[in-house]
Amino acid sequence: MSKRQLAMVMDLNKCIGCQTCTVACKTQWTNRNGRDYMYWNNVESRPGAGYPNKWEEFGGGFDQQGNLRDGEIPTRSKGYGDPWDFNHEELLHGDDFKNKSGVPAVGPNWDEEVGEGQFPNSNFFYLPRICNHCANPACLAACPSGAIFKRDQDGVVLVDLDRCKGQRLCIASCPYKKVYFNTKLFKAEKCILCFPRIEKGLAPACADQCVGRIRFVGYLDDKEGQVYKLVHKYKVALPLHADYGTVPNIYYVPPLKGPPKFDGDGKPIEGSERIPLSYLESLFGPDTKAALKRLESEIEQRKQGKGSELLDMLIAFKRDDMFRLGKEREI
Ligand code: SF4
Ligand code: SF4
Repeated sequence: MSKRQLAMVMDLNKCIGCQTCTVACKTQWTNRNGRDYMYWNNVESRPGAGYPNKWEEFGGGFDQQGNLRDGEIPTRSKGYGDPWDFNHEELLHGDDFKNKSGVPAVGPNWDEEVGEGQFPNSNFFYLPRICNHCANPACLAACPSGAIFKRDQDGVVLVDLDRCKGQRLCIASCPYKKVYFNTKLFKAEKCILCFPRIEKGLAPACADQCVGRIRFVGYLDDKEGQVYKLVHKYKVALPLHADYGTVPNIYYVPPLKGPPKFDGDGKPIEGSERIPLSYLESLFGPDTKAALKRLESEIEQRKQGKGSELLDMLIAFKRDDMFRLGKEREI
């Protein structure tokens, strides 16, 4: 455990899937030197395969006794796919793009907005993902070289590249598949939570540039901070796959159930769930129902003209309140 722990909350009701966060991260950290296929931040459509494709099937994390579980390392043929450039001419004017040979079978966000179900009862939502800077990091536990460490002052999990010998056990053991292998440098690399920005009082680039203002950043023990309030006071922000045993520090406000489904005559089906609760629980655990109930009741309260600190926070009226990094911005 670190002395303090930085955490991020992402409100999935506000993510518009614009990928600005992905581009902000990529242009800053991973667009060169063997990092072309890496997405330290990715945004996937859910239900969907995610990135790497079907990452939840690769294993890793801890079992109930606290032992490391076996995990697989994704590859380009199974998981990542190959980076490609879009042929915009073909996309816009081609006659049969999908049947052309050479169309990749997998890749980052390849199934964007496919979701599940048939119109008009289809559904999907966006799930942005970065390294969870876990309190019990499986990547750190698995590294035989002691190259992965957790900073005491903020809990950021980093790879010491001088010590990394490229054995890749961290990649197999991270159940979120958020460590990548740089074949040019023969080193493991991962999200660094933009620690050079944090040290200047700036939020990570993915959060700072988020168009939907969905990301809150702060210390988990800062009781005046919005992160603390969303996670501990109102309990509407939940970790992704807490069942993996790594104690993740990225939290999600789950998506509300959305509009009702429609019957064959186009009439709304009272009480129907467009996004099934069981699916959300498979991601965010058994507290999902209570979190959604809290959100719904605060929305009702607001409709009646009453105040709601929770909704005021989620609206993100004051952008600077979303980032409490314990120091004034230096630039
Ligand atoms: Fe390590 Fe994976 Fe947790 Fe990040 S998400 S700290 S890479 S186990
Ligand atoms: Fe979602 Fe924000 Fe990323 Fe856009 S920038 S995809 S709104 S998390």
